Amino acid sequence: MAIKKMSEPNEGIKCVVDTCEYYMKGDHCAAEKIEVEKISTTDSNGTDCSTFTRKGMF
Ligand code: SF4
Repeated sequence: MAIKKMSEPNEGIKCVVDTCEYYMKGDHCAAEKIEVEKISTTDSNGTDCSTFTRKGMF
């Protein structure tokens, strides 16, 4: 299900994944809500945000 992209950042989220369609300048996220999956390792490389959508997909 597509998550709505808002015109304002979601103030409760700080994210540095600037390759994401929802990313907003200043390390903000414009997704109405996000889902984060359980990580299987202690290495936090990459993103575990399952709302992540590669830029240009909309
Ligand atoms: S959807 Fe997830 S990966 Fe994309 S900007 Fe928001 S928090 Fe970051």
